[in-house]
Amino acid sequence: MPDFSIGVDLGGTNLRIAAVTGEGQMLEKVTFGSKGAPGRDQVIDQMCDAILHLSSKYKATGKFLGAGIGIPGIVDLQTGMLRKSANLPGWEEYPVRAEIERRLGARVVLENDANVAALGEQWLGAARGVSNMAVVTLGTGIGGGIVLGGKIWHGMNGMAGEFGHVTIEPEGPPCGCGSHGCAEQYASASAIVRMAREAIASGEAPSLAKAASSDAEFGAQSIYNLAIQGDEHARRIFRTFGRYLGIMLAGAINVLNLEMFVIGGGVSSAWDVYAPTMFEELRERSIVYAATAPIDPLRSGSLEKGKEEGVSARTESRNERKTIITRALLGSDAGLYGAARMAGMAE
Ligand SMILES: [Zn+2]
Repeated sequence: MPDFSIGVDLGGTNLRIAAVTGEGQMLEKVTFGSKGAPGRDQVIDQMCDAILHLSSKYKATGKFLGAGIGIPGIVDLQTGMLRKSANLPGWEEYPVRAEIERRLGARVVLENDANVAALGEQWLGAARGVSNMAVVTLGTGIGGGIVLGGKIWHGMNGMAGEFGHVTIEPEGPPCGCGSHGCAEQYASASAIVRMAREAIASGEAPSLAKAASSDAEFGAQSIYNLAIQGDEHARRIFRTFGRYLGIMLAGAINVLNLEMFVIGGGVSSAWDVYAPTMFEELRERSIVYAATAPIDPLRSGSLEKGKEEGVSARTESRNERKTIITRALLGSDAGLYGAARMAGMAE
């Protein structure tokens, strides 16, 4: 009977909880959506009820090892509290881990959401079997997690992996972090919308202006749809996006020389329209990448070319010690698997 743990993905609007065995089999997944942001105590009630329900439901399966919770924010690993979270108002300075452990009577691990996503992809996703890797999550902003020797690299106090706040344009747009011209301002969903709005304001992108005025939900997805339909203005935005993502990754590859960078998050699915300029920049700017690039990086990173082919390209490349840049495989479940893995791993 396999032991199991519970992974929690605590988003700003969604709460998702899954029971996962030590072998990586998902037993059950529960999702709570919400209109508006429910209060902290309500979320903790909902979470603890669901964890207690799942842990008792599957106790015949094996031993319940504890719960891992992925949180959007900076987690203080010593105190089990949130140091800073833009999406969870009212959670800072509250003993999150202690309170949940008290209610569950089980071990609870808190971890940054990008870090658990990295661990999930490393355990069961695109980087399965790769000990040294990083995940870069392209969503509204950019998240990042680094795994070294199969374990999350926290840095001194849990703040490592902030790929999104590397400066790539000294005089670029202001960023929420207080700096200017961060990677997040060029290679995220909000950056795509900003670049589209700028193109519209310049009067040089009539097709985007038309789409923006007729589409109430005009956003990164609409701009991507235009790009794949061949709209030149939309395509240019994604080329810029790929270029800046490549500049950021070139720096990270030069510094870390990791085996694999996995690109995840909602915007990563626009791979076809940004990956070519991303790989161009990598070759031009990273001496480490130029020396270790696979012969056909787009093919080794693309899932559309067929699973067998993709897997063999990755395996072959790994044997030759290549730097692989590829797409995430687990989607939004990466965080659930990674959080469960955290809880299931021995200290
Ligand atoms: Zn920033």
